[in-house]
Amino acid sequence: MSQQGYVAAPPYSQAQPGMGAYQGGFGSGPTQPLYGHYGGPPQAFSAPPAGMMKSSVAPAASMPLPAGSSQYNPNVQQNGSHPQSYPAPPAVSAPYGQPPHSLYNSMASPGPPPTQQLTNQMSSMNLGRHVQGLQSPPPPASSVVQQPFQTPPPSTMPPGLQSPHMSPLMSPPQSPPESMPMASQSMAGTSMAGMGRPFPGPPPPGPGGFQQPGLGSAGQPGYPQQAGQFGGYMAGPQQNMPGAFPGAQSAMAGPPQKKLDPDSIPSITHVIEDDQVKQGGQVFTTNIRGQVPPLVTTDFTVTDQGNASPRFIRCTTYSLPCTADLAKQCQVPLAAIIKPFASLPKNETPLYVVNHGDTGPVRCNRCKAYMCPYMQFIDGGRRYQCGFCNCVNEVPVFYFQHLDHMGRRVDFYERPELSLGSYEFVATLDYCKNNKPPNPPAYIFMIDVSYNNIKSGLVKLICDELKTLLEKLPREEGMETSAIKVGFVTYNKVLHFYNVKSALAQPQMMVVSDTAEMFVPLLDGFLVNYQDSRAVIYNLLDQIPDMFADTAESETVFAPVIQAGVEAFKAAECSGKLFIFQSSMPTAEAPGKLKNRDDKKLVNTDKEKTLFQPQKGVYEQLSKDCVASGCCVDLFLFPSQYTDIATMADVPSHTGGSVYKYSNFQIETDGEHFLRDLRKDVQKSIGFDAIMRVRTSTGFRATDFFGGIYMNNTTDVEMAAVDCDNGVTVEFKHDDTLSEETGALMQCALLYTTIGGQRRLRIHNLSLNCSSQLSELYKSCETDSLINFFAKSAYRAILNQPLKNVREILVNQTAHMLACYRKNCASPSAASQLILPDAMKVFPVYMNSLMKTAPLVGSTELSTDDRAHQRLSVMAMGVEDTQLLLYPRLIPLHNIDVNSEKPATPVRCSEERLTDSGIFLLENGQSMFLWLGQASSPDLIQSLFNLPSLAHLQGHMCALPELDNPLSRKVRSIISGLLEKRSNSMKLQIVRQKDKPEMLFRQFLVEDKGLHGGASYMDFLCYVHREIRQLLT
Ligand SMILES: [Zn+2]
Repeated sequence: MSQQGYVAAPPYSQAQPGMGAYQGGFGSGPTQPLYGHYGGPPQAFSAPPAGMMKSSVAPAASMPLPAGSSQYNPNVQQNGSHPQSYPAPPAVSAPYGQPPHSLYNSMASPGPPPTQQLTNQMSSMNLGRHVQGLQSPPPPASSVVQQPFQTPPPSTMPPGLQSPHMSPLMSPPQSPPESMPMASQSMAGTSMAGMGRPFPGPPPPGPGGFQQPGLGSAGQPGYPQQAGQFGGYMAGPQQNMPGAFPGAQSAMAGPPQKKLDPDSIPSITHVIEDDQVKQGGQVFTTNIRGQVPPLVTTDFTVTDQGNASPRFIRCTTYSLPCTADLAKQCQVPLAAIIKPFASLPKNETPLYVVNHGDTGPVRCNRCKAYMCPYMQFIDGGRRYQCGFCNCVNEVPVFYFQHLDHMGRRVDFYERPELSLGSYEFVATLDYCKNNKPPNPPAYIFMIDVSYNNIKSGLVKLICDELKTLLEKLPREEGMETSAIKVGFVTYNKVLHFYNVKSALAQPQMMVVSDTAEMFVPLLDGFLVNYQDSRAVIYNLLDQIPDMFADTAESETVFAPVIQAGVEAFKAAECSGKLFIFQSSMPTAEAPGKLKNRDDKKLVNTDKEKTLFQPQKGVYEQLSKDCVASGCCVDLFLFPSQYTDIATMADVPSHTGGSVYKYSNFQIETDGEHFLRDLRKDVQKSIGFDAIMRVRTSTGFRATDFFGGIYMNNTTDVEMAAVDCDNGVTVEFKHDDTLSEETGALMQCALLYTTIGGQRRLRIHNLSLNCSSQLSELYKSCETDSLINFFAKSAYRAILNQPLKNVREILVNQTAHMLACYRKNCASPSAASQLILPDAMKVFPVYMNSLMKTAPLVGSTELSTDDRAHQRLSVMAMGVEDTQLLLYPRLIPLHNIDVNSEKPATPVRCSEERLTDSGIFLLENGQSMFLWLGQASSPDLIQSLFNLPSLAHLQGHMCALPELDNPLSRKVRSIISGLLEKRSNSMKLQIVRQKDKPEMLFRQFLVEDKGLHGGASYMDFLCYVHREIRQLLT
């Protein structure tokens, strides 16, 4: 196969000079055991030194040297281990987020030029045993890089149609090229052209950043030329961009697809499998700048050696273009998806906690970047040059250390902040609100006790569950009990607060009926330690369902409930989380009262965006208040009708909270599903009262942020809480030219309060390559991250723009990115061939799937609340979650090997993969289906359901019976394994082929035409190809 996709620049050019140059300057040479000096995970290394333990707060300072440090001279040891005995360092640590207050520029030493230093440092981080990875050639461009479409003879083209005639892509080893006439493409052409619904010109410039690409360099009036989310630039001719998305109904029209071999177009399941085969089970070592990690779906282990694990940060590309012009030219978004609290598997080392003593973490005086592997020590170790802003700083006396012959500090391996990509600092009082150490956070459970929730049995279910769940509140590692305080409120039109002080024999209730001026009627006894007050709390939880058993009250308030939580946290001077269990839209007379404003007539009009916009006013202010007091809001909704989720979820979505929705909740079918969500949520690892700043080296900077966040200014990302599933997507833009030699650095610093009430700084560092060759960028792209970015920016854009414009932008940009690759990185080939960059070859599947998601599809058949809910959920997702959402797993179960330990292999999400005799499991992280073909073998049905045939299957089954046979055990273990792994619980829906509920299942077959509109993958690919050809002519 052709290698033509890769031109020019040698792989990893400049990135790893001196790789393998490590000569063992520390005697025996720093092979892996040196990492034991950090104390390591208990299972791996013995006797971690004090002060380096995860979660330990070593009194003042740094890491005592490990036992094996005898090669260091005594002075060094002293320096390293007793910083407090040195003269106090200058008080330079400014409160977090403050502008720099001193410039030490003039102190620049006559050391080697910064770039050289950095290069040295980068190279010295690369240990010998990893060298082979670097020296190996780039992944074979070969087979998969370019997959030509071939042009069938023109005679096969139906008259009058302009669609490209393409045979499917040749998928490398498996299927030989075919040049089948693509008769059905005639349909693709017409349907894609809009089916009589041509999209008019460019959209009005919305207030959001989602700008219309497709402007020539001259621009068009009214369109800002600065690169918007999507660049705002198109290199090719963009006039007359035809319709981007088939109309909802029209897409269904047309003859059925002619049988092309669907295996011949790029397949996500193949890509996932290939990567698993290639990199699964291996160790990914983060010592190489710009190294593209394994796919998010691949099972691998990470060893941190100087860059943050891909579990914490993933990027859309690991090689940034050197100039803004190149970035504009290719329109590939430059973004990072940061999950600062990502869970690590048990076999990976938890983050070390570093204590720099009373003066706080060592930081660059100018840009305030924290000490990290990108600081270059010079002048015998007395100064260091910041890798971000190049400022030369004095090393504080307590932090001084000698350099070895390579210019590296001899305590390099003892200090996580010098050698690791991720670690934490103990924060000093400067980093705390009002310069006071924070109190441990609190969780307040706020239960709507109106008629619906009582009648459904939900209130009792919650109260019963809390008795066991509260025993499992998250706690600081090494602590026996949780420091988190708990409190309880019930409400309908009024609020009831409970005093559950341990000294009381009975809980006491206090009612606040003035919801306009919310206050908390008691301070002492409201937020308590669960262990101390267990008896009183039990008593309360037993009584609540009975107290309201006869209620007739059906109206509720909502904003005052949140307000009460904020007031309680303020009074207790703590941060925390509200768990609100609400049944309906708040219609009672009170601040934040809502009306039904659902209007399906707005769908597919320019006003559709209003369905996604929250009601302004009360909730806007509440979000601000919540963030200011570190109050995260989780909303569990149990609606039986429209509840205006766009508004009700506004506060949760700005405070790092989650919204769970259980429509028409019934205990029998939804109870377990809800409880699984609640348990996961309560036990999540989480940080509170957080503020995040992303610093970058010169030449580029973070310009936009997407997530469950709040922003008061353009740089500080505020989060009332951030948990292990929250992902913040950060977009970058050029300020200047980037250097291939120094690359591009980023440092994400998250200041937060731990569940134990400690103030910490969590630091994640990542270094990327830079290249003046676009081929490097395309080679280093990560499709899963790209689609996360596109999903979030499109979902934000629909707040301000008509959906069709947003979809059009998505298609245009897809075509543009691919056309630019074709033009600049691929060698000449027939225009009829579709050539995709290897790293992006399945990008079109994801993009097409994204455009068919409920928020973007514009169908009156979809619930407005569901659309708003999905929109907001996606905004806070990390890469794993968006990947799975946009390409569900479809797992055949009928032919599964019950004895194999290997996970079942998913197949493509298309009807073509289903068989009448098959049984399939489908899940996307939000929904889960068990699909039963109408000709399923009675044996299988017997094994799974203990029923003689499909016909005996009851309607509302939501779990498989526990049967003692290998198939039942295997299938149930697959299901429970998935439920365990995903961030949300999923309700298992069992559907029979051809039954009505099967429609729900079919909408997840994302390679097919959308039920509510949207093209099949094949049609979309053909359409995109045609767009690319237009761009290139
Ligand atoms: Zn700096």
